[in-house]
Amino acid sequence: MDSQAARTRLEYERHDAQARLIAARATLERLRTERAEAGTADDEHDPDGSTLSAEWTMAVAHCRIVEDSIAQIGAALARVDAGSYGICASCGRPIPRVRLEARPAARTCADCANCAGSQ
Ligand SMILES: [Zn+2]
Repeated sequence: MDSQAARTRLEYERHDAQARLIAARATLERLRTERAEAGTADDEHDPDGSTLSAEWTMAVAHCRIVEDSIAQIGAALARVDAGSYGICASCGRPIPRVRLEARPAARTCADCANCAGSQ
């Protein structure tokens, strides 16, 4: 993948992730409002209360995942600028094109990712 194609793809991914982040934050905001409306309701004995906290936990986790992927895309764009995009950060070999197409923000080749347990 040439650097222009990589940049275009990453910018598209970032745009998509930002839209997901807006949606995830809207969900958090809605849950916050619902929580406030529930007021001092006793979570222990209120079945709605526990549903709300499970939903809240999931929404927070989802928000973090999306924020994380935006950060990874930003780092990948910085590597495009630096000319190191598509080079494994661990072993220094080129990352196979098929992997970059599946995971454009990948820092490492699949072999290194499997060893390190990161991406
Ligand atoms: Zn590698």
